[in-house]
Amino acid sequence: MNSITPPPSNLFYQTRQRRPLLSEARGVYIWDVDGKRYLDGSSGAMVVNIGHGNERVLAAMREQMAKATFGYRLHFENEPAERLALLTAEKMPEGLNRVFFVSGGSEAVESAIKLARQWAVATGHGKRWKIISREPSYHGATLGALALTGYAPMTAPFAPMMRMMPKVPAPRAYLDRDNLSDEARGLKYAETLRDKIIEEGPESVLAFIMEPVGGASTGALVAPDSYYRRIAEICDEFGILLILDEVMTGAGRTGKFLAAEHWNLKPDIIALSKGFASGYVPLGAMVAHERVVEPVLAAGGFIHGYTYAGNPLACAAGLAVLQEIDHENLVRRAETTGAALKRELEGLMERFPVIGDVRGTGLLLAFELVADRQTMQPLPKEIEAHVHLVEEAYKRGLIIYSRRTRGGIEGDHFMICPPLIADETHIAEIV
Ligand code: PLP
Repeated sequence: MNSITPPPSNLFYQTRQRRPLLSEARGVYIWDVDGKRYLDGSSGAMVVNIGHGNERVLAAMREQMAKATFGYRLHFENEPAERLALLTAEKMPEGLNRVFFVSGGSEAVESAIKLARQWAVATGHGKRWKIISREPSYHGATLGALALTGYAPMTAPFAPMMRMMPKVPAPRAYLDRDNLSDEARGLKYAETLRDKIIEEGPESVLAFIMEPVGGASTGALVAPDSYYRRIAEICDEFGILLILDEVMTGAGRTGKFLAAEHWNLKPDIIALSKGFASGYVPLGAMVAHERVVEPVLAAGGFIHGYTYAGNPLACAAGLAVLQEIDHENLVRRAETTGAALKRELEGLMERFPVIGDVRGTGLLLAFELVADRQTMQPLPKEIEAHVHLVEEAYKRGLIIYSRRTRGGIEGDHFMICPPLIADETHIAEIV
């Protein structure tokens, strides 16, 4: 079978582009049916934190499969869900101990939106409904999560069908050509949230949501420390909920279990998925502070839920994934391996002036190609650098992830995010 043109298919995804047929995946590598090996330099879409084909996780899944693969959550409790909820809560900031399982990142964000709103209604703040988010950002594909997403190519066709939520700029500090210190620049961006709350009317604002480190829509964008501190103060000042979308950053990816830990953020709600189940099953979680959940339950319950929520097989896999993260010390490894990979990528900047910026933290890293490093002028669109580099890497057996955007502004950035189990040889191979 030819791996470049697989047979015609009834499936369709985002584009016409066809890819080789997957055969096997182990550790950081994936093989196609022709036996060609690929280093998974983006962990899929920043998903497979513990690597592919982990035997302990597979064994836990087999064990659960032999017992029961489904029990409807309103008919039966199940032990894997209970144990996973407990272990998840142990890894959260204090008070965030109520866990709601879902099947993916969009569902986690959707659930956060609905819980926040029900909290407002239950606590006598029924006028609050606006959730301010950032531009650029990505929060998911379903219409609620999409209304929070600040990425026009994905939202525009659906805008008439949604109530788009107010946006503030994400701190693209690396593009700013002012003379501000990092501290001042972080504050400048944070103040845009305060201004937006006042413009919208503080009594109407329910929450602010952000990816603590930007994902694919920004290319691993990290804000100055002062930004995070000030954002938390502003949320407190107006009594609005802070929701962190840690779908991509959670489960160790940034060198802490949660990216929130880098800045000691104490959000009200957190959305998790991707690395949380590392691609073994569709699974995500919304974790909320008890002060948000209790009033909702007391007022009659959370009017929301999915058929597959708390699925015993999914939760058994998720539990084994979190245990593996602990067992193999993968959070710490993300920190050290990420620092080493970042140094290597920065080293490439000396050889290749076309690399304008290297950014990110832990193993959530990205680099950006530019025409001019001084001005950060992007490469001409016609060159299609984001396509060519990805394809060239693909040919050479390396998978990287790219988007041509830096949020409203054109640009070519590339995510370099291997599984957290990657070692020096894998780093050398990527570089
Ligand atoms: N939130 C963030 C930060 C993401 O990166 C993604 C996916 O890329 C999502 C939400 C949506 O997750 P899913 O594709 O699993 O629905």
